Amino acid sequence: MKIKEVLRSRGRGVSFEFFPPKQPGSEVFFINVVKELARYDPLYVSVTYGAGGSTRDRTRKALLSIKKAADLNVMSHLTCIGATAESITSILDDYRANGIDNILALRGDAPRDMRDFDISRGEFRYARDLVEFIRKHDDGYFSIGVAAYPEKHPEAPSLEKDIEHLKMKVDAGADFAITQMFFDNAYYYDFMDRALKHAIDIPILPGIMPITDFNRIKEFCSFCNASIPESLEKKMLPVLDSPDGIKKTGIEHVGGQCEDLLRNGVKYLHFYTLNRADAVNEILKPLKDLLK
Ligand code: FAD
Repeated sequence: MKIKEVLRSRGRGVSFEFFPPKQPGSEVFFINVVKELARYDPLYVSVTYGAGGSTRDRTRKALLSIKKAADLNVMSHLTCIGATAESITSILDDYRANGIDNILALRGDAPRDMRDFDISRGEFRYARDLVEFIRKHDDGYFSIGVAAYPEKHPEAPSLEKDIEHLKMKVDAGADFAITQMFFDNAYYYDFMDRALKHAIDIPILPGIMPITDFNRIKEFCSFCNASIPESLEKKMLPVLDSPDGIKKTGIEHVGGQCEDLLRNGVKYLHFYTLNRADAVNEILKPLKDLLK
């Protein structure tokens, strides 16, 4: 089912993002995690797409194996820099033939092992170009999501410019957006106010990152311009030598964020699962009633 219809028909709900399994033999573990999280009756589940199309086949395989194993709405992430119109058309045709009707349309980043990759060359420059391209060719078949950045995308010159660029993606035909992770809800609420001022009226799902490994999260944050609140740094200080202490503190923090979002009328939460169910389970357990 198309996500735009799911969001129209469902009052509240969660969605889960996975990356395609890499190691031989990890497919079984992956599908078991998907099945375990399926008990939350997710709005949809999505599978990421590696920089420059590096996971094209694995992303496709993961999506098809989810469709085979569980009755879930699926969405493929799809990046466009370095891609050609021909390669994107062939992916879209294949998705259509396989009943994959939701795409998260992204620009993507230069692959880390290609230092001289020139982002400005090529047939697609921005995610908006991909949204436009899909809309020109799809007769409304796909529901299209895009990325949004409460603390602004690292390359954007200002919050204002970044939200103008989001508006362009909406005008090109995006049905919904998912945010980059954030650890202070004030960024999300402020972002939603600014989106409203720019007449952005599509659903914008907050991206929720469970914290279980604080160093890894800090590394992610440094790439993607998400900040760690001082209060969280302070809470982490006394437990930094204890993986269990970090996990407990991280889950308390992110669980508190989710509770606050739901109590303030946010209807949907999009979880970056990192292909693990345990932290998501712990965050969602106490929120059962709020998600009804
Ligand atoms: P865009 O919307 O094109 O924006 C990129 C930059 O260009 C921004 O700074 C924007 O302000 C600027 N910009 C846009 N339009 C214009 C214009 N007309 N003129 C000037 N500047 C402009 N990456 C992956 O490789 N695979 C994934 O599966 C993946 N999944 C993601 C899921 C989510 C929910 C999010 C939030 C991000 C994901 N990413 C993924 C990361 C994403 O690819 C990067 O953040 C990338 O740097 C930007 O992609 P975008 O689609 O937001 O790009």
